[in-house]
Amino acid sequence: MSHVFHRSLTASYPVAIGGDGPYLIDADGKRYLDACGGAAVSCLGHSDAAVIAAVQRQVATMAYAHSSFFTTEPMEQLADFLVARAPAGIDSVYFVSGGSEAVESALKMARQYFVERGQPQRRHVIARRQSYHGNTLGALATGGNAWRRQQFEPLLIDVTHVSPCYAWRDQAAHETDGDYVARLGQELEEHIAALGADKVMAFIAEPVVGATAGALPAVAGYFQRMRAICQRHGILLILDEVMCGMGRTGSLFACEQEGVTADLICIAKGLGAGYQPIGAVMVSQDIRDTIRAGTGFFQHGHTYIGHATACAAALAVQRQIEERGLLANVRAMGALLQERLHARFDGHAHVGDIRGRGLFLGLELVQDRTSKQPFDPARRLHARIKAYAMQNGLMCYPMGGTIDGLHGDHILLAPPYIIDASHVDEIVDKLGTAIDTSVA
Ligand code: PLP
Repeated sequence: MSHVFHRSLTASYPVAIGGDGPYLIDADGKRYLDACGGAAVSCLGHSDAAVIAAVQRQVATMAYAHSSFFTTEPMEQLADFLVARAPAGIDSVYFVSGGSEAVESALKMARQYFVERGQPQRRHVIARRQSYHGNTLGALATGGNAWRRQQFEPLLIDVTHVSPCYAWRDQAAHETDGDYVARLGQELEEHIAALGADKVMAFIAEPVVGATAGALPAVAGYFQRMRAICQRHGILLILDEVMCGMGRTGSLFACEQEGVTADLICIAKGLGAGYQPIGAVMVSQDIRDTIRAGTGFFQHGHTYIGHATACAAALAVQRQIEERGLLANVRAMGALLQERLHARFDGHAHVGDIRGRGLFLGLELVQDRTSKQPFDPARRLHARIKAYAMQNGLMCYPMGGTIDGLHGDHILLAPPYIIDASHVDEIVDKLGTAIDTSVA
């Protein structure tokens, strides 16, 4: 019997013992095509020789040095690499160990920025409903997922939520994208006015929503409008690219495709591709300069900030992606996967929407395609699909049922950037069987 505390008492998962490119292998030798990268993490697959060698080299030379005593070559090189490719205005990086830490750090950095600027009354955060930004208390407070928040509500900081940009459900038939963006912009304006613009510190959003809405991109112009509103009121924009960043959508940063930059950008998962735990906050020059000219340092810290082995792994991952031109493969295989998903599911009675960008795609499942009525959450359709897919040697990421009322079941696909057309066929084939078996 397992004594691992975090596992559900009833779960009986296979034991993962090996990796082979986009496949994970269990103790019985069964192979699972990792069509979701775990949770959009394993973007290089599970056996990348260059990354493994980089990690081994780093551990053998100097695994770790505390960041308040030393800087290290891998940390400096990774920072230079990321800043050189970052959206305009971003000019430094703060390394942490994962996505929640990145969001937590961004929130504290935003707060310190306003304290340094003599605006300590700015402490309110605006986020969006049906969002997930992590499970530590600050990050959890920004998330709009009622089920995750529920029992921790008394511990959470003040965050209020506006509508997400969820065109398939919320854009009215008569509304153009421009009208829809204007409506959401107006909602944000009114929300800010009600709070008092001078009290608001930051607006946080995912450019392409992952874990709560199944690879949901915004309509054209949405992020530009939100950015403009924030700028007009002196509110910082935090983009959470923990899941959608680092090439997942076909560009290194997802916000490049929105034509916007941000004051703070959180990254994690695809940064280290699972070879080591690592996350980061990309920071604007204005924030860095303000904090440098004020207190002089960011009043925060974790033991494993800039962990040398994690940075070495992430640097090797990012070099592999660039040197092997893998973003072009993300775009090509993403387009092929979309095409095959449409061919397989467009006439399906229970697949309501297929969406996403690059190799970050989602399917929304519905009881009824015309009314878009979701399945009864008690049926836990997403969990059944996951279980059937696993039986059949496919990993896909399930969500749904309990998030913010009418939200339904989703399947998220986020396969490694190294897949080819045969993997695309295997994903669609096995997913089709899992969905058909689950809804029957
Ligand atoms: N932000 C987003 C958008 C995420 O999807 C996640 C994790 O799924 C997080 C933050 C939290 O990251 P972590 O689980 O590494 O703490």
